[in-house]
Amino acid sequence: MLTSLAGRSVIVTGASKGIGKGIAQVFARSGAKVAVVSRNLSEAEACAAELTAKGGTAKGFAADVSHAEDVDNLASSVASAFGGIDILCSNAGIFPQAKIEDLTADEWDQVMATNLKGTFLSIKGCLPYLKKSDQGRIVITSSITGPVTGFPGWTHYAASKAGQLGFMRTACIELAKYGITVNAVLPGNVLTEGLIALGEEYCNSMAASVPLRKLGTVEDIGYAALFLASKEAAYITGQTIIVDGGQILPESLDALKD
Ligand code: NAP
Repeated sequence: MLTSLAGRSVIVTGASKGIGKGIAQVFARSGAKVAVVSRNLSEAEACAAELTAKGGTAKGFAADVSHAEDVDNLASSVASAFGGIDILCSNAGIFPQAKIEDLTADEWDQVMATNLKGTFLSIKGCLPYLKKSDQGRIVITSSITGPVTGFPGWTHYAASKAGQLGFMRTACIELAKYGITVNAVLPGNVLTEGLIALGEEYCNSMAASVPLRKLGTVEDIGYAALFLASKEAAYITGQTIIVDGGQILPESLDALKD
């Protein structure tokens, strides 16, 4: 049993839907005060209202993580609303697909700005408040794509997700003196609204390449984030948890035959 996070202040970026919403749900159920962040205020507020209706404490905020000023304002607004910041889940990310021959420099920059610079800016913006917490935690949502695996059309995305881990491994050393830990969750294929929209057949074909024969849920990622944010994870920093149903392990398709 983990020590309760009741009353702790948590920011989840990219939480209006998908994995971020799953992380927000898990933290709200644990009693934490959850700042639900996306660029679209009404969508962030709608998610916060859902969490509140289920008995949680949550509030929606608008911020674009690729803009320093947005994130700085976000951090100070959340700190005022919730009395500080204990945990940052840096989750906002985009994954437009384009193979190298078609990928433009602007598309590359856009992915890096949200996924990699957005992680840096979110951490920098929250740092003054995390330093004041007695349980400062940063949990980054990376991916298996980039750090471990590859997929055509996602060179920029993969580079951004691997870059997050390079950033993390030095950030955790810099921030250790404040008692702040920095870790990452690496999801495999997760059943988000976007994936569900692609149809059951598509989801089933993806699940077939996973040893556990199913896609992950957004809350599966939330539980890993919750553990890394817990009091009990105080001595874990600069590490990764892969949450993928065993997806990275089969050596060949034969390995998945019964
Ligand atoms: P999603 O369903 O598309 O949701 C993305 C969330 O991020 C939305 O709330 C979106 O809201 C927000 N967002 C996008 N750009 C933003 C920005 N610049 N500033 C602030 N918020 C922004 O995505 P997802 O599939 O849940 O992915 C979430 C994270 O998990 C990403 O980092 C992704 O790389 C990682 N991941 C996903 C999977 C998967 O299978 N889905 C697998 C591995 C890793 P707005 O558009 O309103 O801003």
